[in-house]
Amino acid sequence: MCGIVGYTGPKQAYPIILKGLKRLEYRGYDSSGVALLKDGQLSVHKKKGKVAELEESLIGKNLDSNIGIGHTRWATHGEPSDRNAHPHTSANGRFAMIHNGIIENYALLKNELTSKGYTFTSDTDTEVLLNFIEFIQQNNNCNLEEALRIALKRVTGAYCILLVDRDDPQTIIAARKGS
Ligand code: GLU
Repeated sequence: MCGIVGYTGPKQAYPIILKGLKRLEYRGYDSSGVALLKDGQLSVHKKKGKVAELEESLIGKNLDSNIGIGHTRWATHGEPSDRNAHPHTSANGRFAMIHNGIIENYALLKNELTSKGYTFTSDTDTEVLLNFIEFIQQNNNCNLEEALRIALKRVTGAYCILLVDRDDPQTIIAARKGS
């Protein structure tokens, strides 16, 4: 099982998230990643392999941010790869999400979204759920929390998820069921 970490507050998010991911390494994983939000820009960094490899790839990068999410993945849908690693970003680039668990009805949701013109950049059930949330948010013109609530009524499976919204510099939205 993988691990998820989120931080929002006055401190630098990245070192706290990195420390959290390292503490969760014992659970086993195949890739890791972080999404950091700063001045309305989401930056997502992810890598197959150990957290130390992610850390190394980020040396010298500007990671200044007071809010972010981080993930270690244990692949269930899609091979372990940079592309399938979390966080995932929604199609319009507004939301980033990490997910622990399995969305059992992801194929059904994916078909619905594909028929509405969505394309996917990974093989994961996670990206499907994220775009489903984005679709609901846009259709209902509601906030992310409300969109998530509506979306999860359609979801079967186990999950623990964290989401950040490019347009909300302080809030991490979380949901958990059976995971
Ligand atoms: N089902 C998701 C995936 O394959 C999450 C796996 C996990 O719990 O790490 O990406």
